[in-house]
Amino acid sequence: MPVVGLPELLGAAGRGRYAVGYFESWDVYSLEAVVAAAEQERSPVIIGIGGLSANHAWLSSVGVELYGAVSAALARRSSVPTAVLFNEAEHFTEAAGALGAGYNCVMMHTQGWSWDRLIADTRALVAASHALDITVEGEVGALAEMTIDGRIDSSIGAMTEVAQAVDFVQATGVDCLAVAVGNVHFVTSDYVPEIRVDRIQEIGKAVDVPLVLHGGSGTPPDQMQAAIAAGITKINVGTRLKHVYGAALRGVIGSGGDPNQEYGSRSAEDVNTRAAAALTDEVRRLMQVFGSSGQA
Ligand SMILES: [Zn+2]
Repeated sequence: MPVVGLPELLGAAGRGRYAVGYFESWDVYSLEAVVAAAEQERSPVIIGIGGLSANHAWLSSVGVELYGAVSAALARRSSVPTAVLFNEAEHFTEAAGALGAGYNCVMMHTQGWSWDRLIADTRALVAASHALDITVEGEVGALAEMTIDGRIDSSIGAMTEVAQAVDFVQATGVDCLAVAVGNVHFVTSDYVPEIRVDRIQEIGKAVDVPLVLHGGSGTPPDQMQAAIAAGITKINVGTRLKHVYGAALRGVIGSGGDPNQEYGSRSAEDVNTRAAAALTDEVRRLMQVFGSSGQA
């Protein structure tokens, strides 16, 4: 199956009233686990890696190129519609490094940027990307974050204003738009965010590009489904997947087996293969919540 662009994936999701998940990976095992989930659920999917959860020196020296190549190979072999995203680049230069490296969509993490920089750099990325038939996810507003000690830092959060969203889409030509509507990054505790579905509807009426919800890790199923009903067609999940993988890995590691089998063998004794199976189960569950199961 050829790699599919976000406009096609999200357009179909909008018509069918479901959302396609971007399930952020961090290595080859997790990338394969996400594709396996999509094939088992017969669901379209967005795979890739992200700049918020990886070392930027490593990303720029080799990581972006390495995982672009692996992700593109997996997407080409996937039996369901699959897009490849480099998510939340730290700046224009890092995002531009993903162009031609195997990704068919890119996004910058623009939190805290001035309006002028946001417009100029996003516009430049759109021009460079569209020339290569690669799409761009833009972002207006900023998500609050859960800190490592479990507090919510809302000082950095800024709800997306409707007028801002309209100006931004018009000025930059982005292909889809991530919004801050009460969603929170990095949540894995029992903290429950309050998604403003009214704001999603207002933004959706005012702009003509698909809308994206980051912070899927801490948003409960009923709120994700309400967001989809209001017009969200892409949901990002990252932190939660690492927690599921980590818990499964801790459960199987150190059992004193043969290291040749436990690491990298891809056999039933491979600890990462076993953790990846738990990850596949979690991604399948989320695809059912998003309504994308059976839509491939
Ligand atoms: Zn995010």
